[in-house]
Amino acid sequence: MLRTPEELEATLGRIDGRGYRAYKDIQGGYDFPGFTLHIDHVQGDPFAAPSRVRIVVEQDRAAFPTGVRDTPARNRALCDFLTRAVARACDDASRHAGSGKSGLVTVDRAGQEILERTSVNVDSRAVEARIMVGLPAAGRRILGRQADGIFLDQMPRIARNALVASSLDAAALERHVRTVEDQTFLRGSLRTQGLVAFVGDGAVLPRRSGVDPRPMAKGAVPFVSPESLRRSFDLPNGGRVTGMGVPAGVTLIVGGGYHGKSTLLSAIELGVYDHVPDDGRELVATVPDAVKIRAEDGRSVQGVDISPFITNLPFGADTGSFSTEDASGSTSQAANIAEALEYGTSLLLIDEDTSATNFMIRDHRMQELVAKDKEPITPFIDKVRQLHDELGVSTVVVVGGVGDYFDVADTVVMMDSYRQVDVTERAMEIAERHAAERTREGGETFGRVSARAPAPGSLDPRRGKRPEKVDAKGISTVLFGRTTLDLSGLEQLVSVSQTRAIGDSLVLMMKRFMDGKTTVAEILDRLEREFDEGGLDALSPRRLGTYARPRRQEVAAALNRLRTLRIEQIG
Ligand code: ADP
Ligand code: MG
Repeated sequence: MLRTPEELEATLGRIDGRGYRAYKDIQGGYDFPGFTLHIDHVQGDPFAAPSRVRIVVEQDRAAFPTGVRDTPARNRALCDFLTRAVARACDDASRHAGSGKSGLVTVDRAGQEILERTSVNVDSRAVEARIMVGLPAAGRRILGRQADGIFLDQMPRIARNALVASSLDAAALERHVRTVEDQTFLRGSLRTQGLVAFVGDGAVLPRRSGVDPRPMAKGAVPFVSPESLRRSFDLPNGGRVTGMGVPAGVTLIVGGGYHGKSTLLSAIELGVYDHVPDDGRELVATVPDAVKIRAEDGRSVQGVDISPFITNLPFGADTGSFSTEDASGSTSQAANIAEALEYGTSLLLIDEDTSATNFMIRDHRMQELVAKDKEPITPFIDKVRQLHDELGVSTVVVVGGVGDYFDVADTVVMMDSYRQVDVTERAMEIAERHAAERTREGGETFGRVSARAPAPGSLDPRRGKRPEKVDAKGISTVLFGRTTLDLSGLEQLVSVSQTRAIGDSLVLMMKRFMDGKTTVAEILDRLEREFDEGGLDALSPRRLGTYARPRRQEVAAALNRLRTLRIEQIG
């Protein structure tokens, strides 16, 4: 039953100065004027993970019009917009004073991408914000007066300023929603024009720095499509837009060093997500299942069929079901591709900068010196066409140094001082003249794509006899029971909240979907259905506000990197 704010105030007065554990008394729901406050979880001590609180405002008061919430895309945009508004209100409210996390009031942080998250939830009945509060203490003594300020003063302010339509900038909200709707539409329309990616004219691709993903502040050269590749789309809100269409097939991005090749590819990688207005990449859209492939030496690989690329390893290692604790550059890159084909992708994105050279090419001089039967690797150049022609998987590859790729390309875009030029015809002429040099390797067909079923017992989220411990330690590390998962090779992860959701997705999949027979792809289908139907709360009954939805590609990548994984090929 809901209690009154006065009762909360009285409790805080009573426990003031007492030991921290007495905070447990405030757990529960409170009926404030205009909103309900739920104190769901009270932290055990000032240094523990902060307490979890929800503010719920009914729609008759919050009054967000149906037009900004009645489709999944709009709802996601609205929730993102409100998350940012709550974050601003929390910053105003947060007064760090006392021990541990005392006085900190926070909400999950949203970046340049607009992701489905659990920080704010909106439906036809209510708006709910999930907030973390560091309950204030001096040492381990409760600071009741400060807590009173947080709950009786700051929470009402957050409810009033960030969760009610009339307090917010309606035009900015409208813009947020329309931009997301347009981006979602654009991404969904790529196939109708035979494209795998689109980069809008005027887009600003470079970022402020390697650690600051906001758009470059000054000096950025806006994107201009080469005329020959220009396509247009009619967006539901933004009208007609034009830009460069990247056709299905094999596309090269060439050009001199420092001319913007990797910047373009990165923008395409993240085009699987919607971006905030003014990000600069709102009109960069990529098919949603695109996967960045790179070399990742040192990664664990379990039971992957890498035989399309690698056969006859020294000492007879089985590449039809290849396992290693410590992959090389080339074997890791081969495994990354084989796994991507297994869990599902229609577009591979590869940058020479982060590839193993011997995986990408064996040039004709090397072919002359080292006979094919002494080289286990069939380089990617000899597989990239088959990937498209047999399996329908396109590739965009950045090549600065290896012109041999002209032989296998459909489209060649050159970057010249950050400007794009279509050089397909010239590249084809050059390829023609040198056609006789290289010998094709690796046979007439791509080879096998296997299906594997993971053994549930090989995932252990417990720490020995102690309970489950799964957590994200930063964006690229998951603590999974006694093992640590390194996700630093996944360049399309954009939020630690996705990483957190990935960790818990592994547990959910292990408990509910893995039986040693169900394949990776089927398990991921079921996970996605779970998310589509019940949202990310499927991951935990605790109503956490700190999840963002990961793609199945990254969930699978995490599973595949788990060092304890045991997995059987079943087809
Ligand atoms: P490459 O991969 O061709 O060597 P990068 O994409 O790494 O080049 O870009 C080199 C530098 O140029 C980076 O610092 C990047 O931020 C900057 N840059 C890239 N594109 C643009 C652009 N359109 N306008 C201004 N600077 C850019
Ligand atoms: Mg580069």
